Amino acid sequence: MIFAIAIDGPSGAGKSSMAKALSKILGCIYVDTGAIYRTVALAVRRAEADPRDAEAVERLLPKIDISIEYNPQLGQRMMLCGEDVSALIRTTEISKYASDVSAIPAVRAFLLELQRGLARKSSVIMDGRDIGTVVLPDAQVKIFLTAAPEERARRRQRENEEKGIPSTYEDILANIIYRDKQDTERAAAPLKPAEDAVRVDTTALSFDESVAALLDVVRAKLGALPAGEGSGE
Ligand code: C5P
Repeated sequence: MIFAIAIDGPSGAGKSSMAKALSKILGCIYVDTGAIYRTVALAVRRAEADPRDAEAVERLLPKIDISIEYNPQLGQRMMLCGEDVSALIRTTEISKYASDVSAIPAVRAFLLELQRGLARKSSVIMDGRDIGTVVLPDAQVKIFLTAAPEERARRRQRENEEKGIPSTYEDILANIIYRDKQDTERAAAPLKPAEDAVRVDTTALSFDESVAALLDVVRAKLGALPAGEGSGE
C-alpha cells in the first residue's frame, strides 16, 4: 500500500530531521519541499530578479529547469539546469528569497504537480508549509510540527555551528520571525494546520522523544507501522 505522511510547520521546528528519521524507520522517501522552493529562489537570485516582483518571477519560471534526484547515501538532491545546487540553497539569503518567491501564486502552481507526482510514485513523508492543506489533502497522516521561535533559532544555530556555517543567533531569530510572519500571513497557501492534522510541539522534547511522539501519531493513523529498516515490525 502506498501511503503519504504530511508534515507541516514553521521553519526550524525540526520537520526535516524528524522526516528523515521517520523515512528510515518506515522505509519511504523523504521529500523536502522547502528545498524545491529554495531552488526556485536560487534561480531568481542568479537572474538578478527581485524575489518580491511577482511578474518578473513569473516570467522567469518557464526558463527554470528543476529536477529532483534521489541518492542512496545523500538523499534528495536538487538539480537546477542539471547542476547539483543542494548545498548552495542553504544560505540565510536564499532562505529569505525562498520565503519571498513562495508567496507568489504562480510559483506555487508551477511546483504543485512536481510535488504531487512524487507522492503518486511511492510512499512519501513530505514536509513543507501546505502539504496537508493543499499538496496532499488526502494524506493518511498529517502532522503540524511546531516549537517556540527562540528554541527553533537555538537549534538552527547549533546546526550551523556543526556544519561550520557562520551565523549569529540574533540573525537566525530575525530570519525565523520574518519567515513565520510572511508564511502565515500570505494569501497563497498560508502556513496553517490542516483541520485533520495532529499538532506536536517539540519545544520541550529531545530528538528521540520527538521521533517517538511522531511514531505514535503514525501508528494511530496507519495501524501497524510499515516495515522499513528500523521499524522492528
Ligand atoms: O522549509 P524551508 O525553510 O527550507 O523552506 C524555505 C521557504 O520556502 C519557507 O520559508 C517557505 O516560505 C517556503 N515553503 C513554502 N511551502 C512549502 C515549503 C517551503 O512556502 N511547502
